[in-house]
Formats: sequence, structure tokens, C-alpha cells
Amino acid sequence: MRRITVIPGDGIGKEVMQAAMLVLNELSLPFRYTWMEAGDEAYRKYGKALPDETLEECLKSDAVLFGATGETAADVIVRLRFELETFANIRPAKSYRGVKCLYDDIDIVIVRENTECLYKGLEFEVADGVTEGIRVITRKGSERIARFAFELAEREGRKKVTALHKANVMKKTCGLFRDVCREVAKSYDIEFNDYYIDAACMYLVMDPYRFDVILTTNMFGDIISDLAAGLVGGLGLAPSANVGEKHALFEPVHGSAPDIAGKGIANPSAMILTAVMMLKHFGHLDEAAKIEKALENVLAEGKTTPDLGGNLKTMEMAQEVVNSLKSM
Ligand code: ATP
Repeated sequence: MRRITVIPGDGIGKEVMQAAMLVLNELSLPFRYTWMEAGDEAYRKYGKALPDETLEECLKSDAVLFGATGETAADVIVRLRFELETFANIRPAKSYRGVKCLYDDIDIVIVRENTECLYKGLEFEVADGVTEGIRVITRKGSERIARFAFELAEREGRKKVTALHKANVMKKTCGLFRDVCREVAKSYDIEFNDYYIDAACMYLVMDPYRFDVILTTNMFGDIISDLAAGLVGGLGLAPSANVGEKHALFEPVHGSAPDIAGKGIANPSAMILTAVMMLKHFGHLDEAAKIEKALENVLAEGKTTPDLGGNLKTMEMAQEVVNSLKSM
């Protein structure tokens, strides 16, 4: 039995988690789920956004399945990624039939370094009205994430890795990242190139087919993964996995979406696809493929939530996925 900590969190996190669990419970999987609290609501209740018991449970688990947090994201999800040492954040962007996208047949994976860069939280107020933030990029961290990206490309039969940086301006930090990526690329039989992050944003919008695996630093990866999600129908469809040597944490790219929270209209697809990533991580490939196929059927039939033009509620869409699973 694998031990999974389930943290619904805040806002739509709770709604989409309930939907994903409805789908997961349809299959008999060797998982034992423990539900824990974290986020804005936990902060109001316990004075701690990430209560000690939640962190301890996560550290003891084989994986964490996470919904979303709002204002306390830095204290919860960013901290969890550090505590669990999940150095790689994998964010696929794939277009599905029936979903209005800017382009068809997009299948990109973003591999984002998850422990360094400006998100280390090294920010200071050095004088009145003067603030500073420190950007940390190391050879070890860059090499680890670069190898991870190439190994993912090999494993998934992908053809190309593209590193994104801004080495012409951030000569030391991005310079090191770019150089290490170039060095690592030499030991793999996979095409490699690198672009400046700003140019890459334009290419992604105008010609996304030039990308396959994107390899980048923490903050650029955060921003570009929302851009990539926008290419394929929005945040309602974007899953992610945080993977380290010992731990793994699975979460949709979206946040708590306060604008739609409580209305029961959040798209559960990102959370369901996040659960699919967890199944793949543990080698349950048949079950993962079945759920993804069921979701594909539902999307193709237009049985969706309002963000994708449909009129279903979150749980109704999840039920459609379950119905499709049952009919397989
Ligand atoms: P947070 O501060 O928690 O990150 P946010 O509103 O800044 O919240 P997101 O939660 O990522 O950021 O949402 C950005 C936009 O995308 C919002 O308009 C939201 O309604 C929409 N959105 C995000 N996730 C979904 C979803 N699963 N289904 C439908 N719309 C979504």
C-alpha cells in the first residue's frame, strides 16, 4: 500500500480534489489516503498555514496530492517543495480534441527547477523604500535539473530539449545555468538548443511546434507554464508534478481561483490529470491511460465546465469521466 497525503487546501482546491477522488476511487489502487489541512483556512484555524502534523505526514508519505492555496502559497506549497526536496517541477501542456486551443496537437513538457532562483525567499528591506532579492543558481542544482530533463526526454521518446534563460543580462546566474545545460546536453543523444526567455515567449505563441521539452529556472518556469497552459485551453487543464529523490508532490498549476471558488464550476481536468501523473509516477500506467482516455472522451464531447464553454458543474464533469471509465 502506498501512503498518499491528500491536501485539498483552499478555494477551488477543495472542489477539484473531491472531483479527482471520485475518479480515483473508481479504480482499485493500492493507495491509502490520509486527508490533511494546509492553506489560508488552516492559518485562520491554527495560526499556521502548514501545520506541523501536516508537514510530518507529508514527510512520511510516498506522495502528496495537493489542491491549491491562496494567500499562503509561499508558506505552504513553496515550503513543501523545499522541505520535500522536490527539485523538478514537470508541467505538461497538451491540447485535447474538443477544447478550443490556439493550436492543435501541442504536446510540450516544461521541466522547471524547483528549489533555487528568486523563489528561495531571500528578500530584504535594506533601507526605507529599498528592497533586494537574491537569485541563487548553483552548478549542482542546474546539473541535476538538466539531467532530469534529458532523462525525461529519453524515457518519453521526446526529440528535443530547449533551455530558456536570460544569460545576456543575468550573466552570472543565467550564464551558469546555460553553460551547465550545454555541457549536460553533450552526454545525451537528443537535440538541444537554448533561447532567451523573452524570445521564447514569442516563439511559444507564434510557433509552439519548435518546442518539445523546455528546461528552465524556477521563476521563468513558473511564468512560462501559465503561458503554455493558455495555449492549450487555460489553467483548468494544466497538471503538474514535483519530483525529488525521495518524495513527490502532485498539484494542478492553478491556484485557489477566488473569483470562482464556492460556485462549483471549477474545471476538474487539471486535478484529474494531476492524479494521472501520480499514477504514472508509481508505474500504474494502464490505470493512468484509462483515466486520461476517459477525460479525453468527455472533453471531445464538450461535456465541460464553463471555462471551456460547457455548462456542467465540477462534480457533474467528474461524474461524466467516471461514466466514461465504466463504459470502457
Ligand atoms: P491564487 O492567488 O490562489 O493563485 P489566482 O486567481 O491568482 O489565485 P489562479 O487560481 O491560478 O490564480 O486563477 C487564475 C485564473 O484562472 C482565474 O480567473 C481563475 O478563475 C481561472 N482558473 C484557474 N483554475 C481554474 C479551473 N480549474 N477552472 C476554471 N478556471 C480556472
